[in-house]
Amino acid sequence: MYSAGYLARKVWIDYVIVWVRWGASVKIPLDYICVKSGILCPRCQALVDSGEVDSREVDIMRALIELEESGNQLLKKAVYHKAYFINSQMIVIVMDLGVGTSVPVYTKYARNIEKGLANKLGVKVKLIPHTSDLRSLALHLLYPARVLGVNTLWLPNGSVEYVVRVSRRDRRFLEKNREFFEKILTELSGKKVQIRYE
Ligand SMILES: [Zn+2]
Repeated sequence: MYSAGYLARKVWIDYVIVWVRWGASVKIPLDYICVKSGILCPRCQALVDSGEVDSREVDIMRALIELEESGNQLLKKAVYHKAYFINSQMIVIVMDLGVGTSVPVYTKYARNIEKGLANKLGVKVKLIPHTSDLRSLALHLLYPARVLGVNTLWLPNGSVEYVVRVSRRDRRFLEKNREFFEKILTELSGKKVQIRYE
């Protein structure tokens, strides 16, 4: 027979599992209550003041919570990392959806969330997964432009940079925001990245 201690532990563990499942929601760097009320506690305010979270991201997090509350199940296992404000019409959001980083799979799941956020925020939204794999990042970020490959560039001073090669025919998708895309790829991959058409 099971000892009382074992049973107590088992009941407790089951309780925790149920609680975690029930309580699972999109993970955001600020507190839910702060985002929903718009009144930030000292911890959340400090994250905004330090620049770790952009004050404009509060609206994005609120929109995510609303989407989840209106029934988007996928957001329950999603992890929000950060947003890049490309221009007044476009936001790139780094977010794990719990579905891996494969382009067709991630894109399929991202579409609904992108649409929902775009409706709420009034701007174009693009989701990309959280990964340091430069090729994967470039495929997601630069889509629909075709990424031909990633080259390593050894500079005379011994440092290394990376060149993301994109089809010349897709220049029109990227050129306007090329510097932003290079900055995002550099920041997320931790490698100096430039985009080149060929
Ligand atoms: Zn807070």
